[in-house]
Amino acid sequence: MHEYSIVMSLMEQIEQLAKDNQATSIVRVDIKVGVLSGVEPDLLLRAFDTFKLETICKSAFLNIKLQPLIIKCRQCDKETTLEQRNVICPLCMSHNTQVVEGEEMMLMQLEMNT
Ligand SMILES: [Zn+2]
Repeated sequence: MHEYSIVMSLMEQIEQLAKDNQATSIVRVDIKVGVLSGVEPDLLLRAFDTFKLETICKSAFLNIKLQPLIIKCRQCDKETTLEQRNVICPLCMSHNTQVVEGEEMMLMQLEMNT
């Protein structure tokens, strides 16, 4: 499952950060999941809860923030937040847009005990 490999690389990141900060345990993990990232928050949460038992995150709570899609239009230079997958600027109907936010999954913050 896709989510399992995501959680595994997330755990690697967390363990590295925990080591850098000499943390003894992780309390909370804040991540941001873009609506275009293809990540299912429910599945991710379940994968996290399964995997964490073997790691420094065993008593951690995973907090998932859904990141809406934000596109920037190269035609009218405006940014728009969209609820769904769309690459057309709703203001001027241009296709000449770029995705600013919403495509990736990112580790935002860790609350840890040191
Ligand atoms: Zn536009």
